[in-house]
Amino acid sequence: MLPPFELSQPQTLPEALKALAESGGQPLAGGTNLFPDLRGGREKGAQFVSLARIDGLRYIEHAEERITLGAGATISDILHDQKMEKAAPALMAAANIFAGAMVRTAATIGGNVCCGSPSADTVPPLLTLGANVTLASTSGERTVPLEEFYLDYKKTVMKSDELLTAISWTPPAPNCAHLFYKLARRKGDAITVTGVSVLITADAGECTTARIALGSVAPTVFRAHEAEHLLVGQTLTPELIEQAAKVAAGQCSPISDIRASAQYRLQTAHSLVRRLLTQAWQQVS
Ligand SMILES: Cc1cc2nc3c(=O)[nH]c(=O)nc-3n(C[C@H](O)[C@H](O)[C@H](O)COP(=O)(O)OP(=O)(O)OC[C@H]3O[C@@H](n4cnc5c(N)ncnc54)[C@H](O)[C@@H]3O)c2cc1C
Repeated sequence: MLPPFELSQPQTLPEALKALAESGGQPLAGGTNLFPDLRGGREKGAQFVSLARIDGLRYIEHAEERITLGAGATISDILHDQKMEKAAPALMAAANIFAGAMVRTAATIGGNVCCGSPSADTVPPLLTLGANVTLASTSGERTVPLEEFYLDYKKTVMKSDELLTAISWTPPAPNCAHLFYKLARRKGDAITVTGVSVLITADAGECTTARIALGSVAPTVFRAHEAEHLLVGQTLTPELIEQAAKVAAGQCSPISDIRASAQYRLQTAHSLVRRLLTQAWQQVS
């Protein structure tokens, strides 16, 4: 049974921001995290501000300089967007293995980013794209690099009166490989054991950009900067890729839980980084 709660249902963003500031309530998007948590007693929120009726938050925009997802765009919206495969191949890969059809239809990208879970599947691909998030309150708007958004397990820089309104990134360079792999106990509808995304660009046989993001192997999804630094300016040989994978795994601090041991997560982080870097380099070199 769900505990009783108050629900306001604003129609516009300014109304929602006002309701949030005045009620001290919590945003409710698709509810696919919030309702199971409420039922399970992990959330006690008695006051929710629903974002479901705010059409202005549900959009996908492909401009020449920037691609923007409104926070209310659902995982299904991403999957059905004709240009997304080119704009963010790894995000498409994450959307493809995200939950089942029913959850994908309700789950929003804003909810996935804001829940702060280390296993949120859209976050590694968005981190390797170098995405920014836009946060709004009644006092104005600010843009934060997604990488600076997460402070600790389920803790973000977002204030209680702020809403995440959009996520945006610059389109990938022409010679770019952007990959994601989700390791889970089943192929579908399962929480990620280890998630890895990489983005590699190359020019004249040299790696010009290297980004590696890992999920479910630390309190937050994170970029493996030390490993990335080894790769930029280099030709990616199997030895160098192996070294980078080892360094990336060394930056992980996983826990053991019912899905996998910490040791298994470390080993799979290492092998998945090696595998995705190898595949990415084959695509761009
Ligand atoms: C059966 C099942 C399978 C699932 N499978 C996956 C999976 O494969 N991969 C995965 O990553 N997740 C999965 N999830 C988790 C969940 O579906 C996602 O995290 C989803 O994207 C959450 O979005 P939502 O719109 O439902 O958020 P909600 O549940 O409405 O909200 C989640 C949190 O974000 C906050 N929030 C939401 N929108 C905003 C906003 N715009 N601004 C500020 N705060 C906001 C809420 O207050 C709440 O704290 C699964 C869940 C279920 C029930």
